Amino acid sequence: MLETNLERIRHNLETLSTFNSTPDHGCTRLSFSHEHRRALDFLTEACTSLGMDVVIDPVGNFRARLKGSSLSAPAVMCGSHIDTVLHGGKFDGAAGVVAALEALTVIKEQEVSLRHPLELIAFVEEEGASFGGGLVGSKALVGQYTVKDLMKIVNDEGVSFYEAAKRFGLNPDDLENYVIKKGDVKALIELHIEQGNVLYTKSIPLGVVEAIVGIRQLSVTLTGMANHAGTTPMNLRHDALAAASKLISFVEHCARHEAFDTTVATVGKIHCFPNVTNVIPGKVVFSVDIRDIRDEGISKVEQLIREEVKRISSEYGLQYSISLVGDSKPVKLSEEVISVIQRTAEEIGVKYLKMHSGAGHDSAILTEVTDVGMIFVPSIEGISHAPDENTTFEDLKTGCDVLVNSLVKLAQ
Ligand SMILES: [Zn+2]
Repeated sequence: MLETNLERIRHNLETLSTFNSTPDHGCTRLSFSHEHRRALDFLTEACTSLGMDVVIDPVGNFRARLKGSSLSAPAVMCGSHIDTVLHGGKFDGAAGVVAALEALTVIKEQEVSLRHPLELIAFVEEEGASFGGGLVGSKALVGQYTVKDLMKIVNDEGVSFYEAAKRFGLNPDDLENYVIKKGDVKALIELHIEQGNVLYTKSIPLGVVEAIVGIRQLSVTLTGMANHAGTTPMNLRHDALAAASKLISFVEHCARHEAFDTTVATVGKIHCFPNVTNVIPGKVVFSVDIRDIRDEGISKVEQLIREEVKRISSEYGLQYSISLVGDSKPVKLSEEVISVIQRTAEEIGVKYLKMHSGAGHDSAILTEVTDVGMIFVPSIEGISHAPDENTTFEDLKTGCDVLVNSLVKLAQ
């Protein structure tokens, strides 16, 4: 069994975390920023010194390849994303990139001979912190986004992803030549922090991910009548916020009691108009985010919410509209890759839990073109997307040990 090096993992992760535009306020590394450039330079240097061929693709995905003995065999990939949210942590994404680098370093050091090439990937713009939506690098990589789509994805300054990539020195027009098709890649394993507290609470060092949730996001608008809060009797009101409050409770009730134990639903954003103390709210817009590993769970909750919006709107005399803001399907990961990861964990003697991911990942997108597995390592207190995001280096090393030995099995 190969063993990874905890001190090197720590050193590489700490180094990546210094490419940060908000020191002392969490880690911020936005796509196409100066910090992104420095992180790419760091990876380029590290991979080149291992004798790997490095390519930064037309949208900014970093890809480095270690040759196998077969020139025609498809690559086995590993990695994660290199960007962060604003004031995020230093492990989200970076943990998987550092783990992949460590795995390839150990394989090179130990002169393990493999038939398949190995490829490290650091996806660009997973979080959507600059351009909204997220998963841009992986979607472009599998051909879900074309050059035209990249022109339509725009940041807060009105600059398109396409334009930003060009300013970064890339040639997005060349995307087509870099798209991965079925058969090009044998398998992908992404190591990632759990970003929840399941592993931490159970004191289990490793999660083997079986499925990634689907996410459906709605925007609900309720329109009533703004009026004087003192002179309008209760029976003559069309209070959009009072109606919204019932619906928000209903969303929570629905996910708790009307679907599966894997179903979750959240109202995380609300705008009230005019938002004035002595005026009855005339209009409210709120978000609904529904997730499950089963489409039926998502659809059932969505259906019940739609019916309740209609019923409550009629009760309060409101107009309503519901728009679909985002929709991604739940995905099952590859049984073959899952069993390789499990077998490896058992051989090393690492306790693991089979679980699902409640967050979206580039891995979900890659299932379109290859067999995908994911390894989770515990997040202390379940904290993520925040400066206090943390994982012990012992746990990260355990994840790296399972990763490297799983890669060897897949690439033999
Ligand atoms: Zn992430």
